[in-house]
Amino acid sequence: MTRFAEPEVISCTHCQTRYLRPVLLSFNTMWQIHYSDGGIKNGLQNTVINESRCTHCQGLIKNIQNLPVVEILSERPFWRNWFGKSHKYLYLPAPSFDVYFEFFDNEVTANAKLNWAAKALQVFNQTYRLFGHERQIESEISAQYHQLINYILQHYTANASEEMTMLCADIYRQVGDFETSLHLYQNVDRKRFQHIVEPASSWCEQRITSLMEVDGQKNTTQSHHSSRDEV
Ligand SMILES: [Zn+2]
Repeated sequence: MTRFAEPEVISCTHCQTRYLRPVLLSFNTMWQIHYSDGGIKNGLQNTVINESRCTHCQGLIKNIQNLPVVEILSERPFWRNWFGKSHKYLYLPAPSFDVYFEFFDNEVTANAKLNWAAKALQVFNQTYRLFGHERQIESEISAQYHQLINYILQHYTANASEEMTMLCADIYRQVGDFETSLHLYQNVDRKRFQHIVEPASSWCEQRITSLMEVDGQKNTTQSHHSSRDEV
């Protein structure tokens, strides 16, 4: 069971508007879905977030988990929960595609830019391109998507990590260049990434261009540090 303590209060790094930050006590029903682009979806990603956009000033906020606590909330008497009285502050919204794209767009360092590009792309794929749940894409967002994949593919080098190679292979498959995709997968350690390379090869053969779920990594048990773990 996932349990939370009383939330902490943090503030926007631009306008100092105060927000709540959830405090996780424990979780033991951790599920994860892995996707063909290296992205992961899990049960906490909309709750325990590290990037967001201030709903007051629209500024980007990062390293949310490391922001200092600016106010201590008094313990609420138990009877107050009966009437569901809410806190005087709100939680920051989970980061959407536009948040990661703006981080990418603002970044100047190549490595960090590449990292934001990959995150933005993974959110984009999960939002618009998931197999069976493909959605119409507005032209402005489509243009941003192409900017991202061009940047990633331009920065792909022969000595890139295998994760980067698989991300690029997945991009090529999703844009319909199955030959290049299969070619890139040949540079990946087949033993270590068999659970990705094997299905990816068949998705190429079937000419599937959507984001795909990767089997064999589901229900990965995650341990999380917690001072008061539930038995
Ligand atoms: Zn703000």
